[in-house]
Amino acid sequence: MLITLKEAAEKIKAANKILITAHVQPDGDAIGSTLALMQMLQSLGKPAQIFIDDTVRKNLHALPHFEEIRRPVDGEKFDADLMIVLDTSIDRLGNVRKLTDAPILNIDHHVTNSGEGVELYVEKKAAATCEIVFKLARELNATITPDIATCLYTGLATDTGFFQFSNTRAETLAVASELIRCGVSPHFISEQLESKSLAEVRGLSAALNSLKMFYGDKVAGMILDHATAKTFDSTEGFIDEIRVIETVDVAFLITEKAPNFCRVSMRSKGVDVSKIAARLGGGGHIRAAGCTLKTTLDEAEKILVAAIGNAIRN
Ligand code: AMP
Ligand code: MN
Ligand code: MN
Repeated sequence: MLITLKEAAEKIKAANKILITAHVQPDGDAIGSTLALMQMLQSLGKPAQIFIDDTVRKNLHALPHFEEIRRPVDGEKFDADLMIVLDTSIDRLGNVRKLTDAPILNIDHHVTNSGEGVELYVEKKAAATCEIVFKLARELNATITPDIATCLYTGLATDTGFFQFSNTRAETLAVASELIRCGVSPHFISEQLESKSLAEVRGLSAALNSLKMFYGDKVAGMILDHATAKTFDSTEGFIDEIRVIETVDVAFLITEKAPNFCRVSMRSKGVDVSKIAARLGGGGHIRAAGCTLKTTLDEAEKILVAAIGNAIRN
């Protein structure tokens, strides 16, 4: 059921013990929005605990209060009267779903989120969930401390490719500007986020070596096998290196995270890749989307290239 931001704030005000979570394979927006909301709730005297059922890439570990994020252990239960799900629909939470039966409040910006079975505040034009959490702070009368601002700015910066992608609006920059006023240091955050391990740069090199072009060079794809992918923790930004090819409309990266478990990322300059991803069991935004294909790398490539082919022909 769709609700307003005001109604979302009322639900939060009425809750006493809150579990906060976001999607597996968490990005800067997932981690930034959960950490910011946790600090806001704690400042209002509401106990709040973040659970994320995945590892988090190293660049995000320096965010304020990162060490308070927990990963659920097998069979664990958590006593809460509200679960807040940020930056995803409820199908990408891993084992966090099993921690509590508390009602779910979902706050998100993905076009593919239909909000089935939950109370959902979705703002499809918001560049990041962090942009929505900024507005929520106002509704809750929570002060944006420098630590909270740092978390929110990180989500804005990562989901907009540092304010370059088409989701960057005047409102996005207005929020970023306000966050800088609240104490954010943009260069410090950029330096944290751009830092890569040697293995990651070698991984990028391997990915670029795998480059293949399809459909008259309109589609560019890269693959990373498990042996390479397991040596580093993030492929963030890899796909942008091929998205820029002048003839390319759709770019993809398939990463074999584990045998028969392939993570797909897509970017586009026109085609709605969220529809392609949704057809393959994933989701996302018009120009950035993803899914997981539980097949071999070769099979994943065949399935994906065919699905993209169908989309670009229509
Ligand atoms: P990524 O390529 O991982 O940066 O993801 C691009 C966008 O697609 C992000 O907004 C993700 O949240 C979304 N996305 C990626 N994978 C999935 C998935 N399996 N299901 C739903 N949305 C996804
Ligand atoms: Mn995300
Ligand atoms: Mn997001």
